[in-house]
Amino acid sequence: MPTTPSIGVIGGSGFYSFLDDVEEVHVDTPYGPPSDPIAVGDLAGRRVAFVPRHGRDHRYPPHKIPYRANLWALRSLGVGRVLAPSAVGSLTPDLGPGTLAIPDQLVDRTSGRPQTYYDEGAAVHVSFSDPYCPHGRRTALEAARSTGWDLADDGTLVVIEGPRFSTRAESRWFAAQGWTLIGMTGHPEAVLARELALCYTPLCLVTDLDAGIEEGEGVTMEEVLRVFGENVGRLRSLVADIVTALPAERDCPCPNVLDGLELPLELP
Ligand SMILES: [Zn+2]
Repeated sequence: MPTTPSIGVIGGSGFYSFLDDVEEVHVDTPYGPPSDPIAVGDLAGRRVAFVPRHGRDHRYPPHKIPYRANLWALRSLGVGRVLAPSAVGSLTPDLGPGTLAIPDQLVDRTSGRPQTYYDEGAAVHVSFSDPYCPHGRRTALEAARSTGWDLADDGTLVVIEGPRFSTRAESRWFAAQGWTLIGMTGHPEAVLARELALCYTPLCLVTDLDAGIEEGEGVTMEEVLRVFGENVGRLRSLVADIVTALPAERDCPCPNVLDGLELPLELP
């Protein structure tokens, strides 16, 4: 068993129990500590690092998550690939609660979150036209298909600032753009992973129909937590299947996205 984790998972605290032989690693970063100490343990014959996105006790709301510290800490431990399960809303009745969606595009509607490592010293423009790792997505889709899970194999995730949910008008407007999923944490997580040349693969569990789509009282936290709780076991085993299926070497464009760019800081 290698001791260095090559795969990182950023997810809800329901993921703690899925690692064996866990050691807790305290990592400090130039951006402060990550959401919590990182749990490094065994999963499907690989060493995997887990960060609870909101902190173990869920103390960080989406707009306060230390995204830069989380990704930096993972890279400093040796992680090359990041799997990112999260709960999302659906902007189309076609994707009901319990659907697993692996989007291929992202729209950023957040505001005021630090979203780059390259703040000063040089202008670093990473390519982000395709925000997710193509190989990670393919592997995740194959693994999910083989379990028979209701699956959306593409789609656009719009990330809102939160922590409030959308109004009906906002929700209808997003849907009218053709965007299919809505969440609060997918940005800047994905772009920070790209800026560190990490592979990033979102695993979005639909927990609700967003306000403009459903007929009832609108999204409630209770509903989100209930559907997530019902599916977290499946999501954990899907992550294990993906970890098993990922090849050891990264043969995708992600490791090379910084080639030829002059960086103003040294990456861990
Ligand atoms: Zn990749």
